Amino acid sequence: MSQLPYYSYRNYMMDTYGKVLYSIPIDLDLGCPNRKSDGSGGCTFCPQNGARSAQSLDAKSIEEQIHKSVAFAKRRYKAEHFMLYIQAYTGTFTTLSQQKETYSKLLKFHDFDAISIGTRPDCLSDETLKYLQELNKEIDVIVDLGVQTLNDETLKKINRGHDSKCSLEAIQKLQSYGIKIFAHVIVGLPNENRCDWEHTVKKLVTCKVDGIKIHNLHVIKNTQLHDEYTKRKFKIFDEYEYAEELIYLLRLIPSNIPIIRIATDTPNKDLIAPLWYMEKGQFGEYIVQAMQYRYGKADTNREFWSEKYKDFYYPRSGAKAQAKKLFIDKSDLQKRLTCKDVKLLDIGFGYGINSLEAIKLKKKNSLHVKALDQDRSILKEADNPLLHALYEKSYYSDENNSLEFIVGDIRYSLRKLDEKFDVIFLDPFSEDKNPSMVSIEVFKILHDLLHEDGVLVCSTSLHTVRVALSQAGFKSQIVTLKDIKGLVATKGYEHIEGVPYSDPYLVYTDKQIAKYREHLKA
Ligand code: SF4
Repeated sequence: MSQLPYYSYRNYMMDTYGKVLYSIPIDLDLGCPNRKSDGSGGCTFCPQNGARSAQSLDAKSIEEQIHKSVAFAKRRYKAEHFMLYIQAYTGTFTTLSQQKETYSKLLKFHDFDAISIGTRPDCLSDETLKYLQELNKEIDVIVDLGVQTLNDETLKKINRGHDSKCSLEAIQKLQSYGIKIFAHVIVGLPNENRCDWEHTVKKLVTCKVDGIKIHNLHVIKNTQLHDEYTKRKFKIFDEYEYAEELIYLLRLIPSNIPIIRIATDTPNKDLIAPLWYMEKGQFGEYIVQAMQYRYGKADTNREFWSEKYKDFYYPRSGAKAQAKKLFIDKSDLQKRLTCKDVKLLDIGFGYGINSLEAIKLKKKNSLHVKALDQDRSILKEADNPLLHALYEKSYYSDENNSLEFIVGDIRYSLRKLDEKFDVIFLDPFSEDKNPSMVSIEVFKILHDLLHEDGVLVCSTSLHTVRVALSQAGFKSQIVTLKDIKGLVATKGYEHIEGVPYSDPYLVYTDKQIAKYREHLKA
């Protein structure tokens, strides 16, 4: 059974064909009805080559395109079964006789199990649909339909040349001819926000399309969008921002509709924005992990063993003692609370032992906690009403305390904070296996977030962590309380020799960070 929190393309292929079909993208050079005869015009985001795939870009003939793409898929993915994908431009923008001739010729070049045809909603004549219906009897036919958005104002602005009604009618027509539809959606088109892509996806779900392809907006060199972006920079999502939108959308799509794609490829030389540091594969893994952390695994009972950290999620024995003796005592939290309201940042919240102990303190002033963790699902399992409240509403408050739970990659959550804290608790769970929480870059952010007289308490005393702290502008002291060890750091200068963990773009995996440190040491 799948461990993925959504119905993936791979699982859909296994369910439908009993094997995975790899797409062989080809460009028939049919042109596009949305472009002038000289190739100008068209959708503002679309490059002159009509989004031709990277692996077939330099191929001359169609045979060569197929040959190159099959060889690439066999080499890279050990692919054995294939689906022909007429990708670039508009795959139905030609006469019916030419379509028939071309498609049947193409299907002879290789033993394909399915054909997928990329096209526009306004380019599906009744003749074409009848032909596709016939073809569908010989080979599985899928139409990759460029919907992009169902917001008419946006469709006008991106010069799409059709409206939302046209897309919805095309879906209905294709369905009446029994042809499968994979609908394309772009997240982040100018002037759109979450409501827009939510509306588009919800509508596609209601229409019962057979699959959804989602990707974030790319600004590609020499497109009209590139001009617009040069004149006025608009919001383009980084990895974490797009991940938030994508996760939101994936949760709206029922588990019988496969998600065919969650990202797209644009060759680096053509991509203006966004410039991501996460590889496409890493992004996919991040989405799966983030969804599992937030909502639990779709089909397994939650276990309290973290495969990732090879440790239990259960509070370790002595966790309460650690909370009291290390985090609370060494931050002088009780004393701070006697003087004024205190803002506490609790990083690596887990079961919340540290914050719960802080909330229990008697106080005449208020404690405001911001708690960060990427794992929300363990809150559900916890036997504690406060944690249940956090699971449901991400917020808890009483007379003297407030606590806001922020779920997400710590590095992303930290960058979104715009306030200063008096006390920071950092519990990296397993610091030697989780270096992303103790890199020099993270400590630099924490330095900015901490008041001048603030204190950072950390449940690790690793030398590399002290090195990172010193390079980020902290001085630290090792605390040893029987079997509890940690660091107490305040702003200041000290030099500690060594090589810290570094995560220059704040997106590296733990393995990449460890490897990068070895590289820095060499
Ligand atoms: S319809 Fe397709 S090929 Fe034509 S301009 Fe728009 S994105 Fe490009």
